[in-house]
Amino acid sequence: MSTLFKKIIDGEILADIVHEDDNCLAFKDIAPQAPIHILIIPKKEIPMLSDAAEEDQKLLGILLFTANKIAKKLSIEDNFRLVINNGAKAGQSVFHLHLHLLSGRPFSWPPG
Ligand code: AMP
Repeated sequence: MSTLFKKIIDGEILADIVHEDDNCLAFKDIAPQAPIHILIIPKKEIPMLSDAAEEDQKLLGILLFTANKIAKKLSIEDNFRLVINNGAKAGQSVFHLHLHLLSGRPFSWPPG
């Protein structure tokens, strides 16, 4: 059974895509938690960060660097937060690894 994000990768579900390359896809979150809320996902199906294998180390770096590139493109490079929810108890609801890139409002610490 394909996850929602796999369906977005395959074009079966439309998303507001802000970046795409051979390794990853980035699109606007449908229920934004900040004025800017973008999801960055690998095209490879990895359910959650803790499922990543040794061979995925480069891909994980690419995801982080892609967040950097998108932040620069949006001129928010000095003010953004990245979040990865790993597992249902940590708030993960879609089991395809994704980074939340959030910006456009102040963020408090600790996170809820
Ligand atoms: P998480 O709870 O960390 O698994 O994050 C999943 C995110 O996917 C949530 O922030 C949702 O709002 C978002 N989401 C769910 N469906 C869609 C969709 N069709 N397009 C864009 N974002 C979505």
